[in-house]
Amino acid sequence: MGQEPITAPPIVTDIHKCSGCGRCVAACPEKLYTLETSGHRKFSVNKNPAKCTLCGRCITVCPLELIIQTATLPEK
Ligand code: SF4
Ligand code: SF4
Repeated sequence: MGQEPITAPPIVTDIHKCSGCGRCVAACPEKLYTLETSGHRKFSVNKNPAKCTLCGRCITVCPLELIIQTATLPEK
């Protein structure tokens, strides 16, 4: 499967599904992801998408495929 270059900053699309594994936090060279705590669970948030360099690493590492480009968010 070919990896297409990304064109928009990715974000975590569904924080309720996020396992808080922290892989996106570790993968982002710009350190844009932060683990937040809500009750007993953790989830990741891209705190500053404006600083994204579009490297695409966060999209690749999320085991749950929750990280998606802002420009390709599914319509609701
Ligand atoms: S695409 Fe790269 S720079 Fe942008 S949020 Fe993901 S890992 Fe960080
Ligand atoms: S890699 Fe995916 S599941 Fe893991 S903390 Fe990041 S968004 Fe959540």
